[in-house]
Amino acid sequence: MQLHGGNILGANVSKSGAATFRAYDPASNRELDTAFHEATEGEAAKAVEMANAAHASYRAQPPEAIANLLDQIASGLEEAGDELLARAHLETRLPQARLIYERNRTTGQLRMFAALVREGSWVDARIDLADPARTPIPQPDLRRMLVSLGPVVVFGASNFPLAFSICGGDTASALAAGNPVVAKAHPAHPGTSEIAARVIQEAIRKNAMPPGVFSMVQGTRPDLGLALVRHPVTRAVGFTGSLVAGRALLDAAAARASPIPFFAEMGSLNPVFILPGALKARPSELAQKLAGSVTLGVGQMCTKPGQIAAIKSPELDLLVQKLADFTASTPLNAMLYSGIAERYRDGLLQRSQLAGVRFANAAVPNETEICGGATVSAAVLVSDAPSFFKNSTLSQELFGPATLVTECESREHLEEIARRLEGQLTVTIHATEEDLCEYASLISVLREKAGRMIFGGVPTGVEVKPAMHHGGPYPATTDPRFTSVGPAAILRFARPVCYQDCPQQWLPPELKDENPRSIFRLVNGEWTRAQLCQR
Ligand code: NAP
Repeated sequence: MQLHGGNILGANVSKSGAATFRAYDPASNRELDTAFHEATEGEAAKAVEMANAAHASYRAQPPEAIANLLDQIASGLEEAGDELLARAHLETRLPQARLIYERNRTTGQLRMFAALVREGSWVDARIDLADPARTPIPQPDLRRMLVSLGPVVVFGASNFPLAFSICGGDTASALAAGNPVVAKAHPAHPGTSEIAARVIQEAIRKNAMPPGVFSMVQGTRPDLGLALVRHPVTRAVGFTGSLVAGRALLDAAAARASPIPFFAEMGSLNPVFILPGALKARPSELAQKLAGSVTLGVGQMCTKPGQIAAIKSPELDLLVQKLADFTASTPLNAMLYSGIAERYRDGLLQRSQLAGVRFANAAVPNETEICGGATVSAAVLVSDAPSFFKNSTLSQELFGPATLVTECESREHLEEIARRLEGQLTVTIHATEEDLCEYASLISVLREKAGRMIFGGVPTGVEVKPAMHHGGPYPATTDPRFTSVGPAAILRFARPVCYQDCPQQWLPPELKDENPRSIFRLVNGEWTRAQLCQR
């Protein structure tokens, strides 16, 4: 497929603006082919307006048609084959094996949402039948279900060029709920984004959907994303990325004349608490597991364990040494783009200058490294607990293959770390049965801080399953009630509407007495797939 470098506005390619940019190979810093056109303000507005115009017709599509569209996108990604993977590899330097895994995850998510839409019960239908005899006032007939919101803006993430980008979980869940999508491509992988967007464009054409259901804009300036969020017809936003960008966009969403929901997943420290019994039993094994998790994807995972806390002991010394050895000996690819690598190196430098912090392996990055594209070294930093409490920098996410071991003098230190934690996507606890009993109060504090509690494993590797929760209190996300992974992610892009005393013929199929879609409904307080008796 020859890349055109344009913005995709429904069925059309648009190149209104003169400004262009290119992708870079992060390993060599070499400019790649194809000039991509920065979307103009007019193109951004047109994309959202086309989405708005398409909404009524799209939300009225039968669920089967929406499910077919999602399936078709999944098949299209598979058909894009090696070309998609090769471009993604060139733009991100993520290894082929990882990209194949990520494509499977992406097609799996699309098919999962297709199945959810076909089955239909996700609309959470609730019916409270009328009771005209109720005194002192009769009860009306109430029927509630979830419906789509309208145009959803999706920001592609740099670290998952497929699974959290143009055709990733945000787009899949927004489309599944009946919303048109305008995707903002991440400027680090514009070619991958174009290929994925063209797959969606083709699926829309094949399924005879209104073309405005999907558009994609390219750009390197924050103004573009802000314009999409501020546009009056945008109804919701899905974002994965940094706290700085997420917060700027959240504030823009809240400052609109008509504020809209803004769902950002902004990463976190993902602390790991190793309790004394578990540490004593297997320091080397824990070090190996954690090293694998810290260096996975060159540490560019929102669930990378960025802090390890334990009470000082000879076993902790051994764990630190082994962790340093294992991470240092793990071969690393380049980071995703030079800016991300610079932020990582700057973060290491900054931390290395703090009193009470030392490196257990890597030296502070030197000049040679800084000139070497996006190639970086893994690092294990060590601090004592008081230094950790004194320096707020240490409790911020450092995106990349580094972790901080905090050596505690006492159980109180461990509990203090837990109490001071901001919202996290995950917390991990390594503990024996006895540890769990003894440290019950610590576990109880940790539950208040995180969206997912892992016992005995590592936080990387987020299963796409109904019981998964990939979210957490701010600043891990902007809304702790929702997940961005798994079927429940659809709930971000839907709102309830209640029909009161509505005549049968005007009710949506999901709420009609005969339950033509045989979905689960909560009828007078009981879940059932049954039809209601004719009244
Ligand atoms: P980013 O800087 O947050 O950028 C993500 C998106 O937001 C891009 O489309 C970017 O567009 C836009 N953006 C950036 N700053 C903005 C602003 N001030 N106002 C409006 N839009 C803005 O994410 P990134 O490039 O992927 O990586 C940067 C850092 O984000 C990393 O070092 C890491 O700390 C964090 N990160 C976290 C996760 C996670 O999983 N939570 C994933 C990736 C990255 P433009 O580039 O066009 O401005």
